[in-house]
Amino acid sequence: MNNCPVFIGGVWRTLTGVATTPVFNPSTGNVIAETPLSTARHVDEAVEAAAAAFPAWADTPPVERARVLFSFKMLLERNFEELIRLNTREHGKTLAESRGDVKRGIEMVEFACGIPSLLMGESLENVARGIDCETLRQPLGVCAGITPFNFPAMVPLWMYPVALACGNTFVLKPSEKVPLTAIRIVQLLEEAGLPKGVMNVVHGGRDCVEALLTNAKIKAVSFVGSTPVARHVFEVATRHGKRVQSNGGAKNYVFIMPDADVENSARGVIEAAYGCAGERCMAGSTALVIGEASQRVLPAIVEAARAIQVGPTDREAQPQMGPVITRQHRERVEQLIDSAAREGAKVAVDGRGARVADEPNGFFVGATILDEVQCGMTVAREEVFGPVLNVMRFEDLDAAIEMANRSPYGNGASIFTRSGKAAREFKHRIKAGMVGINIGVPASVAWFPFVGWDESFFGDLHIQGKEGVQFFTRQKVTTTRWFSYGEGDIWHR
Ligand code: NAD
Repeated sequence: MNNCPVFIGGVWRTLTGVATTPVFNPSTGNVIAETPLSTARHVDEAVEAAAAAFPAWADTPPVERARVLFSFKMLLERNFEELIRLNTREHGKTLAESRGDVKRGIEMVEFACGIPSLLMGESLENVARGIDCETLRQPLGVCAGITPFNFPAMVPLWMYPVALACGNTFVLKPSEKVPLTAIRIVQLLEEAGLPKGVMNVVHGGRDCVEALLTNAKIKAVSFVGSTPVARHVFEVATRHGKRVQSNGGAKNYVFIMPDADVENSARGVIEAAYGCAGERCMAGSTALVIGEASQRVLPAIVEAARAIQVGPTDREAQPQMGPVITRQHRERVEQLIDSAAREGAKVAVDGRGARVADEPNGFFVGATILDEVQCGMTVAREEVFGPVLNVMRFEDLDAAIEMANRSPYGNGASIFTRSGKAAREFKHRIKAGMVGINIGVPASVAWFPFVGWDESFFGDLHIQGKEGVQFFTRQKVTTTRWFSYGEGDIWHR
């Protein structure tokens, strides 16, 4: 059994005498590794190693730091096929989805390679007579990253390439459910020539996270996960004086206008709802069908959902959709479908009890559509994080926007329409940080901020783009005046 090592001070180490938690292959239900639950002592060791490595790394010229990241990017590309297979094996998403997961992560490294330009400050001559002013950006120190299970490659890469490029050192705690891809990627970073101690990895759950949030030497925390934990992380870490960006869960709405293109919008909704088996914070988990869209587009969505075949993803023949992450999570998703049926929703496509003949122990849930969902139902309020599409019907765009804007979350929202006026109205009024127009999953790319609003994000500066660079640095403003006298002053010789 593969017991996942921690990475502290440049040394990979298997912890002994600590509790562990299993890592599953969701396609088969088999345990493929054990994640050790690091204690506060291991966290402290990792933070000490990162703190010791900080001065030299912070003083390394940005262009040299960027060179390590260029090598890292090449190694990620060279090992791409291995990474996507590992990602699929521990997560369960299809190989095509893993390809997207790793590619989006590589884009973050590409972004971070531009650090010499990204770090440039501003200057103004003559802020007063003979006085000039300039800004520069300096790293914070030791930063920590805590990540969820659903993007084993991309989400950790949202954080540390930029943090390291800015001159910080880092301690990563990947999800205990999917540590293998994160470990392999950090091994490639080590191979790229990163000095010892600059990057560290610990494993575990709640206790390990608490130790990170309360460690006085950690200056900033990046978190991605569910909203209750995101709120907790924000509250504890800020109370301990840290800078925090904390991304939570979501409930994203896909609006379908009566004039929407049937084929393209149905495809967009299916992809948004069932991609990665719905385990995405940007999943389009609720379709708001407006007016005649219920007759024009909804039948095509129902037909396409019925045709989705779910199956194991850890082999060459690929299904359209893979399993969910654990047996418990499958049960939770099925219970939420039960609750919707009890509360009056119509189960138009039922994915409960999906079993795959040659993998009876895999964690499969079939594509599901719940029609006539009402606001008060549990399934309308809670993030399902599974292959379940809620359908809500509205007379007009105003009524749909009004309902969607009452959501406590605010990650993404999309509209399918041929009307520029409707799209503009939607873009202006919808309460969400990432908006799609004829795009089902408007997750922003590395060069733009990943902007959650309300209970989807706690903090000020988001992950990705220039905001990411601002998060991982602090500014210094220098105001300068030179007196025109004194020894060696060439003007007065
Ligand atoms: P999770 O909140 O259970 O776990 C996330 C991380 O927090 C893990 O590393 C876990 O070990 C740790 N953790 C769990 N419980 C904790 C506790 N009580 N105290 C301290 N730490 C704890 O989330 P998950 O199930 O791994 O991931 C799915 C969630 O992540 C969904 O809600 C999804 O929407 C969200 N997500 C959000 C974004 C975003 O950008 N907003 C992106 C991806 C995923």
